[in-house]
Amino acid sequence: MRALALAATLLALAIPARAEPLSPQVLQTASELRDRALKGTIAHDFAEHLVLEVGARKAGTAQDKRAADWAVRELTKLGFDNVRAEIFDMPGWVRGAESARITAPFPHDIVISGLGGSVPTPKGGIEAEVVLFKTFDDLLAAPVGSLAGKIAFVTQPTIKDQDGAGYSATVRNRQQGAIEAARRGAIGYLVRSIGTHMTRVANTGSVRYAADVPRIPAAAVSPPDSVKIERLAARFGQPITLRLAMDHILPGTVQSRNIIADIRGSEKPNEYVIVSAHLDSWDTGTGALDDGAGMGIVTAAAKLIKDLPQRPKRSIRIIFFGAEEFGLLGARAYVARHKDRLGEYFVGSQADFGGDVAYGLQTRFHAPARAAIYAHMLRALAPLNIIPADNNAMGGPDMTPFRELGMPVFTVQQKGYDYFDIHHTPHDTVDKLDAKKLDQNVAVWAAVTWILANADVDLRPIPDPTAPRRLN
Ligand SMILES: [Zn+2]
Repeated sequence: MRALALAATLLALAIPARAEPLSPQVLQTASELRDRALKGTIAHDFAEHLVLEVGARKAGTAQDKRAADWAVRELTKLGFDNVRAEIFDMPGWVRGAESARITAPFPHDIVISGLGGSVPTPKGGIEAEVVLFKTFDDLLAAPVGSLAGKIAFVTQPTIKDQDGAGYSATVRNRQQGAIEAARRGAIGYLVRSIGTHMTRVANTGSVRYAADVPRIPAAAVSPPDSVKIERLAARFGQPITLRLAMDHILPGTVQSRNIIADIRGSEKPNEYVIVSAHLDSWDTGTGALDDGAGMGIVTAAAKLIKDLPQRPKRSIRIIFFGAEEFGLLGARAYVARHKDRLGEYFVGSQADFGGDVAYGLQTRFHAPARAAIYAHMLRALAPLNIIPADNNAMGGPDMTPFRELGMPVFTVQQKGYDYFDIHHTPHDTVDKLDAKKLDQNVAVWAAVTWILANADVDLRPIPDPTAPRRLN
């Protein structure tokens, strides 16, 4: 009996009771980071500085290069480790003059924005009958050949909502429409702007092509002009004809950059917590909300952590991805370059949903790991009014190729009700940045990043890595 008791005692000494995944000190520091953020951070200053000094920074342009140089300089000044740019190739695209005019039944100029990556029209433009579709599914229902020689136009509005579900529902109208229209014989493609405003500006954004169908010119139409064309059709019937002229230039292969900066971890330096945003913006605005705000938020959160007396156990890596807007090109280049090490990456996220306040925290963690830490994380965020959310986080657009390889992700959900009034329009300007709202986001990011960089838990394997993604 005594021998057994002794053996049990020895065993207990040899195997210490399993430590809590989050120590009281880690949670205490998370709360301090949160409170410090609310007193004011560099988020607004960083974003405003970029937007004023560089402004529009379409991927693959001289402006993109200026933004990359600016980011390397500023991150170095802030004292991060190993700040660098990684160059990758991408297809170039330069917007030319663009115009559209209804020519029958009555002449009207309309406001458009050529979609990023669109081929130009032939010199002098194209003039053709416009065929209206209320939804993308209606376009899909049109028989092959039925749009021969015509311009297809999907007029579906995008609805306002908190989390961007409205945008997710219609963004394929912009991204996939030219493929499906060309498959049915169309010579041009128009889409009602994937935006939630009713102002006379058009939202740009990327268009995709497929190898097996012709590349046709594609443009977004301002919401009021879209409604005008629908009213013309309702009142006067078909045909409506329209002239579309776009002089875009496709210069071939150009270069863009991912910007990387680290805080080296004290115990597990090869395990990374990725906090990311994207560097590029569209050319028609100045990239204040998309994604200067995200850059400011993640940089400010990392800076608060860097200024602590102790280092995090894991490394924290800031990445500003290049060419997000052209289809996650920088993220895919990063994954291709670093794929041998991605299995060691602990978790990642991207801030790319504007500058309004945060309200929820989604995760995509191994369920037992989430059960062990999620309630503690929410408690640390409670003063910020962060509500519980699901375990189906996308992690942000550029996290898609990472998540598909099994990397755990989280999403700090931001109020998005007004975001798609501004997104990809000329109105994405510096006046939209609100320092207090950015600081509230920084408070969430700093606390969550610190907790995850120090948690004694394994977030892998994640549930359903190939879940449907939020499109850019
Ligand atoms: Zn974005």
